[in-house]
Amino acid sequence: MDMQTSLLDRLFDSGLLIDTGVEGLYGRSGAFEDVIARFERLIDAFGGADGAEAMRFPPGMNRAHFETSGYMKSFPQLAGTVHSFCGGDADHMNLLQCMEVNGDWTKDQKATDIVLTPAACYPLYPTIAKRGRLPAKGGLYDLQSYCFRHEPSNDPARQQLFRMREYVCMGTQEHVTEFRQTWMDRGLEMMAKVGLDVTMDVANDPFFGRAGRMMANNQRDQNLKFELLIPVTSAAKPTACMSFNYHQDAFGAKWGLNLENGDVAHTACVGFGLERIALALFARHGMDIALWPADVRKTLGYQD
Ligand code: ATP
Ligand code: ZN
Ligand code: MG
Repeated sequence: MDMQTSLLDRLFDSGLLIDTGVEGLYGRSGAFEDVIARFERLIDAFGGADGAEAMRFPPGMNRAHFETSGYMKSFPQLAGTVHSFCGGDADHMNLLQCMEVNGDWTKDQKATDIVLTPAACYPLYPTIAKRGRLPAKGGLYDLQSYCFRHEPSNDPARQQLFRMREYVCMGTQEHVTEFRQTWMDRGLEMMAKVGLDVTMDVANDPFFGRAGRMMANNQRDQNLKFELLIPVTSAAKPTACMSFNYHQDAFGAKWGLNLENGDVAHTACVGFGLERIALALFARHGMDIALWPADVRKTLGYQD
């Protein structure tokens, strides 16, 4: 039995994660959710004074915005679309007959106007673009969303539906790169406070196909993405629990995000993988929160 299976089994056995029969799709216990809620309060404590505008979008986004984002160019393998039955009585009869004989009843489902959100910041850009030019001080937003990625795995840290807390910054190059550096420093400090071992590394997104390899290399060469890695299932191959992305002016140009003087805005986002952070805590400190180190419990606000 490899280590991944054993952590997943321990999470199932302790009831922290609930098996649904699908890899990467889990229920969560009250205790697991409480760890996430407490960690989010720690995030608030670090970022709360910055004056970010909080917004919460559902885990589905406008399909037209998703199309504009270019996601299908870069990550077609990860996307999830919402399809529904849109037929009449006769189609319904066919559907039920098809299900009766275990046929593929899904092939006649029609695309709706909704796709599953791939990252918490995707619904933000068109929302801000619609407002007109950014204020003089730039834009800072606080987001959290369930996100979908079709990457089934028996690694409990690679889920298909998981939550991402994000801060997104829009402004000049200097402004947004300073924002990113601030959160890289804060991320290291926060993880130390909850007793987690971290390393920071340059990273790339899993761009699809042959052209994607070039985009990934370019992203690395230009230091556009960093990840904060923490051991979850393996100390030798730690898991990305935070990521720090500088988009240059690519999103600003794509969405029409402009500064007060009309220049195209630069953007950056920092993302916390909330399930991954909770899993890192359970992997490091054990399945029983009552037995976690006193200083970690104190940081997370547990009563003695
Ligand atoms: P990885 O390299 O592990 O696939 P990623 O580069 O795809 O991660 P991002 O796209 O930067 O991750 O997403 C932001 C954060 O969301 C990550 O730092 C991670 O903590 C979390 N995350 C990403 N994919 C998953 C997943 N499948 N399950 C749980 N958390 C995830
Ligand atoms: Zn983002
Ligand atoms: Mg990924």
